[in-house]
Amino acid sequence: MKPAPFRYVAAYSLDHALALKAEHGDEARFLAGGQSLLAAMNFRLAQPAFLIDINPLRDLDYVRRGGSVVRIGALTRYRTLQRDPVVANHQALLAEALPHVAHPQIRNRGTLAGNLAHADPASELPAVVLAVGGKLCARSVKGERWIAVKDFFTGPLSTALDAEEMLAEIELPDLPARTGVCFLEVARRRGDYAMIGVAATLTVDAGGTCVAARLTYCNAGGTPVSASAAAKALVGRRISEKAIGEAAAAAMREIEPPGNVHASSDFQRHLAGVLTRRALAKAHTRAMSAA
Ligand SMILES: Cc1cc2nc3c(=O)[nH]c(=O)nc-3n(C[C@H](O)[C@H](O)[C@H](O)COP(=O)(O)OP(=O)(O)OC[C@H]3O[C@@H](n4cnc5c(N)ncnc54)[C@H](O)[C@@H]3O)c2cc1C
Repeated sequence: MKPAPFRYVAAYSLDHALALKAEHGDEARFLAGGQSLLAAMNFRLAQPAFLIDINPLRDLDYVRRGGSVVRIGALTRYRTLQRDPVVANHQALLAEALPHVAHPQIRNRGTLAGNLAHADPASELPAVVLAVGGKLCARSVKGERWIAVKDFFTGPLSTALDAEEMLAEIELPDLPARTGVCFLEVARRRGDYAMIGVAATLTVDAGGTCVAARLTYCNAGGTPVSASAAAKALVGRRISEKAIGEAAAAAMREIEPPGNVHASSDFQRHLAGVLTRRALAKAHTRAMSAA
């Protein structure tokens, strides 16, 4: 397949890219890694009139540590994130999920910002950013605004970004001391989108009692899904097999996976229960060894 005709401009600065987006609005798309956009264009599922290539904007390719957050620029590729010691040391959940995203060739080009802006509910990284409570910086010619990740995803392939805005930076906060994390998924083949995936975070106090927990899922709804009631029910409890089993059962009831050609809704729910148990057990072990 070939894409429908479009105009292409390589941006020479962030201001240039934003000015073009302001001028062309919804008719224009930013081209980042191209690993979703170009496939969609070739299948004519997307027919933007205008592509604004941000690949020349090397200033947007960074991982920075500041205070207790990690900042990731719009052009930072998965491959960079996988190799970055700041990510390895401070964003263990992201580091654990990245190898599940597609294949090395795609990770050489694909970007975290492109992934989040694409907003595929089956994608791993929106669930990860939701689990750690990230914030997203939207930039336009009018300035910038920060969007909490819980407000960013508005539906399948749909976000809170305005037509003029670029997702310019992702800010990921450190998780508290004595936090363990775990990302697990089941996919039919290595590199496929997950049939279901879970991101778990668990924080314990010095005595081993849970003080905070989060459970988020990919491919469990129209956006990344949080099983907040199931996670909240762990707070105040000592983590045991019983507590983990109850949380997994509660999460199975809380999520509403849509089912697809590869897995029925019931099968997805079953997988979510199994993965939740395993992810919480692993996160707990890690939290205790971090104590
Ligand atoms: C074979 C294959 C398997 C894959 N498997 C997986 C998988 O298992 N899990 C997974 O998560 N993904 C998977 N992907 C998708 C891949 O992760 C993409 O890289 C990602 O979805 C988009 O990132 P990108 O940088 O390539 O963005 P692009 O394809 O360039 O852009 C995607 C969309 O986001 C917009 N956009 C890009 N950057 C910005 C920005 N900074 N601000 C605003 N809008 C922006 C674009 O205009 C476009 O609409 C797969 C892709 C392929 C081809």
